[in-house]
Amino acid sequence: MDNTTPDQWQAIVNKKLHFPPELIAAIQEDNALLVGSLLSTGDGIIRQLDESEDRLWREALNLSIRMGNEDTFSALMLGVKFDFRQIYEALLVAVDTNQPRVVKRLLDRLDQEKGNKMDVRSFSMAIFDHSIDDSQFAPGVTPLTLACQKDLYDIVTMLTKKGHAIPLPHSISCTCLECRNGRQYDLLKFSLSRINTYRGMASRAYLSITTEDAMLSAFRLSRELRKLSKKEPEFKPQYLSLEELCQEFAVEMLAMCRNQSEVTTVLNICDDDNEDELDEQTFEEGIPTLSRLRLAVNYNQKLFVSHPICQQVLSSIWCGNIPGWRGSKTVWKLTVSLGIFFTMPLLCMIYWVAPKSKIGKTLKIPVIKFLLHSASYLWFIITLLAESIFMEMYRDEFASRQQNILYNSLHMIWVVGFFWSECKNVWAEGLRGYIVDWSNILDMIVLSMYLASFGLRVLIMAIGHFVCQDQNLVEKCAYFTQTLRDEWWQEDPQLISEILFAVTSMLSFTRLAYILPAHESLGTLQISIGIMIDDMMRFMFLLMIIGTAFLCGLNNIYVPYATSPHLGRFNETFSFLFWTMFGASNQGYVDMPDFVLAQFVGRVLYGVFTLVIVIILLNMLIAMITNSFQKIEDDADVEWKFARSKLYLSYFREGSTIPVPFNLVPSPKALQGWTECHIACRWSRRWYSAT
Ligand SMILES: [Zn+2]
Repeated sequence: MDNTTPDQWQAIVNKKLHFPPELIAAIQEDNALLVGSLLSTGDGIIRQLDESEDRLWREALNLSIRMGNEDTFSALMLGVKFDFRQIYEALLVAVDTNQPRVVKRLLDRLDQEKGNKMDVRSFSMAIFDHSIDDSQFAPGVTPLTLACQKDLYDIVTMLTKKGHAIPLPHSISCTCLECRNGRQYDLLKFSLSRINTYRGMASRAYLSITTEDAMLSAFRLSRELRKLSKKEPEFKPQYLSLEELCQEFAVEMLAMCRNQSEVTTVLNICDDDNEDELDEQTFEEGIPTLSRLRLAVNYNQKLFVSHPICQQVLSSIWCGNIPGWRGSKTVWKLTVSLGIFFTMPLLCMIYWVAPKSKIGKTLKIPVIKFLLHSASYLWFIITLLAESIFMEMYRDEFASRQQNILYNSLHMIWVVGFFWSECKNVWAEGLRGYIVDWSNILDMIVLSMYLASFGLRVLIMAIGHFVCQDQNLVEKCAYFTQTLRDEWWQEDPQLISEILFAVTSMLSFTRLAYILPAHESLGTLQISIGIMIDDMMRFMFLLMIIGTAFLCGLNNIYVPYATSPHLGRFNETFSFLFWTMFGASNQGYVDMPDFVLAQFVGRVLYGVFTLVIVIILLNMLIAMITNSFQKIEDDADVEWKFARSKLYLSYFREGSTIPVPFNLVPSPKALQGWTECHIACRWSRRWYSAT
């Protein structure tokens, strides 16, 4: 380039380039005539290169391109017969220094070469080429990827028009011949060329020029890069920074929207792959499908989803045509929520009778729908609590076989309702989409535990009833109807049912986690707790190893001394060590005054255990939790908005307006549909039998 400083020039000259000194000077001065005269060997024939000269002239060509001296470049191109590899290298230099005109000329020259022997695909095979090992460009860098990395739109367009493309790298564990050879030939080059290829693909220029739907491609690439960062952890930071680039690109595209109609268009684009996606742009209630936004949620595009434009669209749909809701005070919102909470059955009845009325339409607004469903869930929890109190009041009856199954089964109405709505979910999302979300699986577990608990209680009653009708089974009849609790078997169905119910009623509260993201500070807190539990799990693994080691050691010391009252049995030693972590155990347990050596070793082990667990591990846990809390706190806003968007979108779906216990009553609309279908089926059958 023209702006080469004298120092840089000196460096180039000192690089042991064995040019004739005149040639270097000629290139620097852009003296094409002199270069031409140096090239011609007197007889005016184009120079054929032999091996030793090969590298020299390649450097001369590269140097002239780098200097931007086009006359010299032309003279060299005319005077020397370069082969494919040299032109390829020169092309890289031209792209590197952003000279579209030189690129054009080199491409034309390549076209001639290609006619002879090479095709474009061979560029990607350059990994096997030793002769370009001393190239200044990283492995896997092709002219196109280099241009993409530098965002040179002109050159990228030119190259793609000439048929250059970035082939998608094979998967990491690919076992095809090419990959195996590549790995065997040079593992580092193989990995680097993969990263360099992705670097080109994740660039703005490539995404916007070569793909039809740049946003979708950015989403897909981002997900792929995130997967790769896990599969090839050695290059995790590189992959993750590329992933961030993709996300930023999608966000920038979204930010280009200038008005609401553009935003609506962008967020509602369906991708062509899903044929079963709805054709219409809106659901029945006039709510847009937001397919693109749903896709972004599926692809975990947090930056995209939490962008103000998306959030604004979501909020406006969420509040529907209740104009005052968004700006109104908390007191007003609480009053409305309480009103819905108490009048829920009435509202459901109105909706059941007249879904098209004004109230019916209001109930379809997502925020009201959400409040209705939350109210129903709160009623469920209140029922559970009330049943617990009821059981306490009639404790004697519930302790025996005499309990009435109807007394504490009110919650089963909700359970069946929840079960029905989960079935509908499976129907709507498909089994695969349903299972992917782990919270659905938790729901299913809780519901089946409720059903199992209830089923066992029904079983006890049924057995009692049938066994007593048979005269030969008097003993069994007595067991199932009259015996007291202390005579029951350990695996008695009633005992199992009670325990199942206790555990499940605790798990039921986890469903509140669906409601919390609607509130800013509560939602943020919930996300933090989720991350902390994740940390805790990893910590538990470490704790388990160290704890088991000490449990074994300490226990083995005390096992032979049968007189030792507290230690020497696994369960006792375990509870002793467990409560030591919280400073709630008697350290005198390790003492055995009659056996000094065993006592000494026992005390030492116990001391080390206390040090390791209390001082190191517990403090490490606290540090870990603080650290992840801080990390979440830093991008709490993005995380919370993403979680809230998921919640919002789940309420934008058509149908399921009526909350849980009432959803069991078939609506007139469903009845009508069912009857119509029935009649149609009969008619078609009759028609078939007639023909
Ligand atoms: Zn392969």
